[in-house]
Amino acid sequence: MPTCSFCKKPYNEHKGIVVFTFDGKSLSYCSGKCRRNAELGRDPKKTNWVRREKKGKSIKELKEEKIRSIKEDTGDKK
Ligand SMILES: [Zn+2]
Repeated sequence: MPTCSFCKKPYNEHKGIVVFTFDGKSLSYCSGKCRRNAELGRDPKKTNWVRREKKGKSIKELKEEKIRSIKEDTGDKK
């Protein structure tokens, strides 16, 4: 099971694309989206759609935190 070199997500074989660079490295991408984003030189940490693997915190918790911070921001303006 290869892992995508951009989004670090494990995916099934017979899917995606493997790019061999001139340095002898092989880059496997799960989708054309990941390949294009990597070719554009984007940082996977900064892209919103890449799932971050944070210790202890789930996506639901992160969303709740975001909502809380937005609520706090609006509260300060008043
Ligand atoms: Zn990917």
